[in-house]
Amino acid sequence: MDLKQYVSEVQDWPKEGLNFKDITTIMDNGEAYKYATDQIVQYAHDKQVDIVVGPEARGFIIGCPVSYAMGIGFAPVRKEGKLPREVIRYEYDLEYGSNVLTMHKDAIKPGQRVLITDDLLATGGTIEAAIHLIESLGGIVVGIAFLIELKYLNGIEKLKGYDVVSLISYD
Ligand code: AMP
Repeated sequence: MDLKQYVSEVQDWPKEGLNFKDITTIMDNGEAYKYATDQIVQYAHDKQVDIVVGPEARGFIIGCPVSYAMGIGFAPVRKEGKLPREVIRYEYDLEYGSNVLTMHKDAIKPGQRVLITDDLLATGGTIEAAIHLIESLGGIVVGIAFLIELKYLNGIEKLKGYDVVSLISYD
């Protein structure tokens, strides 16, 4: 299946110059959504994954069906102030300002093998932060799966040394 045809591109949204990749037109198509999920499950199949981790909000959309299909858990990465119990936090720089991501301290057990999922790899900042959080809890990142990779932003550079797959790419 050519998944790319189900992505909607929205020019100049949410701001001038940005070409937004809208994945809701994959999600609302049962066949396309299932196909994308199955591809990631297949990728993860021989990695002995213990738990899936995804950043809010679209990382949940990709990761939760994968964890369900594999019969394993899912742990969310969320913005500061959203998780109710004790968290670890990681702050990273954005083009303007900074951002903080958090995980529950007990979300990952030391030695657990983790698959990270997200909708899209742009600069790689979000996933780099997720890796920091997972590894500081003792988790081992055994794979990272994206629906979409924007190759021209070269986010893959930040993920050097990790096993990465993208189902759709834009050069
Ligand atoms: P980044 O940390 O730069 O790799 O990107 C963070 C998140 O921003 C991605 O996981 C997407 O959810 C979102 N994002 C960035 N650029 C786009 C885009 N062109 N279209 C849709 N979502 C985007």
